[in-house]
Amino acid sequence: MKSYRKELWFNIPARRAFINITPQVDECLKESGITDGLVLVNAMHITASVFINDDESGLHHDYEVWLEKLAPHEPVSQYRHNVGEDNADAHMKRQVMGREVVVAVTRGKLDFGTWEQIFYGEFDGRRKKRVLVKIIGD
Ligand code: ZN
Repeated sequence: MKSYRKELWFNIPARRAFINITPQVDECLKESGITDGLVLVNAMHITASVFINDDESGLHHDYEVWLEKLAPHEPVSQYRHNVGEDNADAHMKRQVMGREVVVAVTRGKLDFGTWEQIFYGEFDGRRKKRVLVKIIGD
């Protein structure tokens, strides 16, 4: 069995964003030489997510509105976590959108369902953050 590990770095200039990272994960898969196995992709920060869904701008806007209703950023004083920081909402948004995804690798390709793409969800940006890509298989 082969094993591959890589960190992808992001520095999102805004507080929040959704980035399609499927091309980078695909690049990792090619680099790994693995044609049959599993890919794990996880955020390495507790205020960011990795998730799978459609690359559709209306949906991403809807996520933003929905997450802001669930865990509004303002007023920051509503959260006990916000003592010396202001990112309690980002921890909650990350919890809802998830930490990681696992994708099957079949015949050298990411074995997606219809319209599936991998996204990095940033909820407290403006600093360097990492995503781990781990691939195992043959
Ligand atoms: Zn925090």
